Formats: sequence, C-alpha cells, structure tokens
Amino acid sequence: GGVAVVLGTRPEIIKLAGVIAELGPKACVIHTGQHYDTGLSDVFFTERGLPAPRVRFAVGGAGRGGQIGAGLTSLDEWFARHRPVAVVVQGDTNATVTGALAANARRIPVVHVEAGLRSFDKTMPEEYNRIITDHLSDLLCAATEGNVENLAREGIGGAAVIRTGNTVVEAVRAQLPGRHRRRALLARRGLVPGGYALVTVHRPENTDDAAALRTILTELHRLPCPVVLPLHPRTLGAVRRHGLVDLLDGLGVTGPLGSAEFLGLAAHAAFLVSDSGGVQEECTVLKRPLIVVRRSTERPEAMQDFAVLVSPGPLISKTAAEWWRDLPGLHRRLAALESPFGAGDASRRIVAEIARRFGTR
Ligand code: UDP
Repeated sequence: GGVAVVLGTRPEIIKLAGVIAELGPKACVIHTGQHYDTGLSDVFFTERGLPAPRVRFAVGGAGRGGQIGAGLTSLDEWFARHRPVAVVVQGDTNATVTGALAANARRIPVVHVEAGLRSFDKTMPEEYNRIITDHLSDLLCAATEGNVENLAREGIGGAAVIRTGNTVVEAVRAQLPGRHRRRALLARRGLVPGGYALVTVHRPENTDDAAALRTILTELHRLPCPVVLPLHPRTLGAVRRHGLVDLLDGLGVTGPLGSAEFLGLAAHAAFLVSDSGGVQEECTVLKRPLIVVRRSTERPEAMQDFAVLVSPGPLISKTAAEWWRDLPGLHRRLAALESPFGAGDASRRIVAEIARRFGTR
C-alpha cells in the first residue's frame, strides 16, 4: 500500500526530498543507480535527514538504452512483487522515463512531478524523456501556467493536470544555510559576498563537443571576478579527454558540492553561469542573476528577469561585464521580484493529491 518514489540522479533527489519527507513511512524510495557517485547521490539524502533508499539497482554508466532497459527489467519485477498504489517520478532523466514505463506496464498510476516542461529542442534526450513521461502519467504536477499550456497543446488536460509550483522552492528554503554558516562557507574559500561567479557545466551539448567546452572554459577566464567551479564527474572526464586540463588552472575548481554549500555560495555570488536546469529555478529563489549557457531552455519563466540564454561564445563574458558595471542595482532589482516557480508548498500539495486520488494507506 506504499508509494514508490523512483529516482536516479542528483536533481531528482534534491527536488523529491520534500515529497519523500511528506510521504513519510508511506514512501518507498527506489534508486536506479544512474548517478552512483556518492557526491552526486548519498550526500543529498543525509543532508536532508532522509533515510537511505530502500531499494537500489545499478543501471549506471550503461548509456541511455542500456540504462532504461536494465532499469525496466528490475523495476518490473519489483512492482509485480510489491504493487505500490502509485509511482512518483520527477523531471526528465532516464530514471524518470524508466519509472513511468515500468509502472504503466503494471497498470500502476504514474505521478509526474515537474510535468509539462518543453524545450522544443529534440536534440536533447531530456525532451524525449519529458514527452514520454507526461503521456504515460495519470497525475501531472505542473509547476507553472506555461507548463499547463504545454500539456494542453499535446491534448493532456482536465483533472489529470494540477498546478502546484516547483518543489525546488522548498528545497532551497530547507537547505540554504543561515547567515553565519554562509559567511563561514565563503571565508573558508577566501571569497567575499558579491565578489565571485559560481559556475556549473555538465550538459552533453557543452561537454561532448571539444570546441564548445574549450570556448566556455576560455570565457570563464575572461569574467570580471574569480570563479568557483564545482566540476561534475562527466565534465572532468570530458576536460581530460579533450586535452583541456590546462584551461582549468585558476578557475577555482572543486568537486561536486552538497546542497547547503552550493546554495550558500550561490546566494552570495555576483552572478551564476550554468547549463543546469535546476539552477535556472534556484536563481529565482536566491535572487541572483544567471547566464544560461545553452541552445534552448525548457524554463522560459526564468528568462524574463533572472536569466539570459547565451550560446557558448563571447556573449558569456560580455553579459557578465555588463552586469558587473552595476551589480548592486541588478541585485536590488531581482530582490524585489517573486519567483515564478511558486510559493514553496508544492511538495505538500502533491502528496495531498496523491493521498486523495490513490488512497495511500
Ligand atoms: N548542485 C549541487 N552541487 C553542485 C552543483 C549543483 O548541489 O556542485 C545542485 C543544484 O543546486 C541544483 C542541482 O544540483 O539543485 C542541479 O543538478 P544538475 O545540474 O546536475 O541537473 P539539472 O538540474 O540540469 O537536471
């Protein structure tokens, strides 16, 4: 009679933590093992005081088809034996689509958290994961009105869709350290508030392509302030493969950070540079400007005020230089704006709706 929560990567853990906490003992967390690196996985459970996943598979590193295939086989067996009343998935990863397919095959209701995002860019595997998952879902939890409209355009609507806001808002509030701890975090790295840029890069479009990665790293050296660059293992691998290790010199490289430290540093950065999906939402809660280094985005809500979309190239450092000229003014303007991603009650609303519809015991 429990609710299975299927996840496999860092952003899913971060954004489902609130849902898992709200479900309490009714939650059975199943980790597909897509991110097996401790720094991308376990730390996010312990930080939030969540129990370790009850079930773990090991699909990691097998490529998209291999990961979905292996996960599907394991999940199908598990769902047949344990028959959860519903299966919750989040976002757009291989684990997301695997959980939805496996549940659908066993006729178990699928709940999609963060439904209705569309980049309209079919070169991204994530876009397929979103579309497939949404079309398999029985309850679609859309964060914004734009997400609801995207679903309607594909013929998905009515009672299946609810608008909840994004769970990232409460995730940031839960994990952002207090003022004193934030000061200490900065001091430990020799950083001053408003005096550095926090950068993440990990999307295949920016790491698989040697020229794009070289351009991005070169641009980081042209920023008007010091950089902190927590490197995703995929990016580190790509830097080595493409022979770009020298370009990391002086870029403040560190390993992947836990949520509290990442958000603490983000909160006081002059600006952020990132190709991450989640950071596009977090910047609106933290009220920091963001340069999104990508060809397209599925989060246009952030682009209105908080972020600009820029392809790998000179616009990265040009945008930063422009912002740098009146940083306090920019920060002040953003501080006055509300996040387009909701009020921080998405997790609670999602779990209430699951209980109402699927009668969780
Ligand atoms: N993040 C983190 N430590 C880091 C870098 C990122 O905790 O060193 C968090 C960040 O706050 C955000 C999430 O990881 O919540 C984004 O994950 P990622 O960029 O891997 O995936 P995406 O959001 O692009 O799907």
